Amino acid sequence: MMLKANMLAIETRAIHAGQEPDPLTGAVVQPIYTASTFVQDGVGENKGYMYSRTKNPTRSTLEVCLANLESASDALAFPTGLSAAATILELLDANSEIVAHHDLYGGIYRLFSMVRNRSSGHNIKFVNFSDIDAVRDAISDKTKLVWFETPSNPLLEIVEIEGVVRAAKEVGAMTVCDNTFSSPYCQRPLEMGVDFVLHSATKFLNGHSDLLAGVVAISPSVPAEIGEQLRFIQNSVGAVLDPISCSTLLRSLKTLTVRMDRHIENASTIAAHVDANRGRYGIQKLLFPGLESHPGHEIAKKQMKGFGSMVSFVLDGGQDRANRVAQNLEIFAYAVSLGGVESLVQHPASMTHKILPPERREALGVSDSLLRISVGIEHVDDLIADLDQALMM
Ligand SMILES: *Cc1c(COP(=O)(O)O)cnc(C)c1O
Repeated sequence: MMLKANMLAIETRAIHAGQEPDPLTGAVVQPIYTASTFVQDGVGENKGYMYSRTKNPTRSTLEVCLANLESASDALAFPTGLSAAATILELLDANSEIVAHHDLYGGIYRLFSMVRNRSSGHNIKFVNFSDIDAVRDAISDKTKLVWFETPSNPLLEIVEIEGVVRAAKEVGAMTVCDNTFSSPYCQRPLEMGVDFVLHSATKFLNGHSDLLAGVVAISPSVPAEIGEQLRFIQNSVGAVLDPISCSTLLRSLKTLTVRMDRHIENASTIAAHVDANRGRYGIQKLLFPGLESHPGHEIAKKQMKGFGSMVSFVLDGGQDRANRVAQNLEIFAYAVSLGGVESLVQHPASMTHKILPPERREALGVSDSLLRISVGIEHVDDLIADLDQALMM
C-alpha cells in the first residue's frame, strides 16, 4: 500500500492492513492456504514456510492485520481466547506471583485457580482493580504479571489502565489487559502502556458467533526476545488457529468498525431507556459504563471510544424472576457468549461464572438475580420492545 499504513484510520486499516491483492491471480481477498507442509528447496532453504503449526501464510496475514489494529509490534492467533491466556502464562517460571482483577471472565478465573495454581505453583492474588491503591498494595517485588479486564465481566467495572501500568512498572511486572469487551475500536491498551492485549476473538472481533479464536497482541515496548519466546511457546504447545478460521476472522474484521458503531449506539439507547424505567421494570441495579451514575464513567470516557455493548442488571425477585425474564425474551437469545451481531442474554451465576464458589460470587456481587445482555445490531426499537414485554410480564 502506497499510503503510510499507520496514518490511516482504523476503519480503513480493518479492511486493508496486511492485505494486498494476490500477486499470482489478482484476487482481492486473501487465499486460504490449507497446506500443512511446504516444499523445501534445500537444507534451510524455503520461502519462509515449512510446517503450518510454526507458520502459515493465511495466519500470518491475519496476525499482521490484528497487530495493526491494536498498535502492536506483533500479534499471535490462537484457537481460543483461553489457549491464548494459557500461553501467556507459560512465559512465567513456576511459582510466580500474579496479581489479578477480582472480576474476571469465569474461564480465566478457572485457569488461574483450578489449573495453573496446581500445575505451575503460581500464587494468584485477586484484588479490586477499580481501586488503584488496592492494586498498589497487592503488588510486590515478587509480582511477575498483572492481569485485568476493563470493562470487566460480568460487572462492567472500569479499571484505570494507565494507573495499573504505572503501579506494575514500579516493580517491573508485565501487564495483560483482556480487551475482549472493548475491541481495538473502543480501546487500545497498548497505547496506554500495557504489555500484552488478550482477546477472545470469538466475541466482537469475529462478531458472528460462528468460530472460536484467541489473540495476543504485543506492545512495541516489550523486548523482542519476549515476543519471540511467546511464539516459541505457541509452537511448542501447538496452540494455533486453523487457516479457514483465520480467513473467516479476516473477513469479519473488515466490518468490525461498522458493527461496533451500531453495537455502541444500541447499547447506549437501551441503557438510557432501562435507566428511565427502573421502577416499572423492577430493576435494582443497572451496570453500564456509559451511564453517568456508573462509578467508572469518567475513566471510561477518557480511555474508551464508546462504551461497548454489554449491559448488566440486577432484578427484583431473585433467581426465579431472572430466569423467567431471560426465558421470556424473544429476540435476545438465552445463551452465553457475547459480541455477535445477534443479541444475547445470560445468567452469570449459573452460566459463565458458575465455576466461582458461591461465597466468592456473593462477595463480588455476581448475584443470582443478575442478568447480562450483549446488545446486538438489530433495530434498537425491536430490542427495546422485547425487553419491555419480558420485564413487564
Ligand atoms: C469468552 C472470553 C474469554 C475466553 O475466550 P474463548 O474464546 O471462549 O476461549 C476470555 N475473556 C473474556 C473477557 C471472554 O469474554
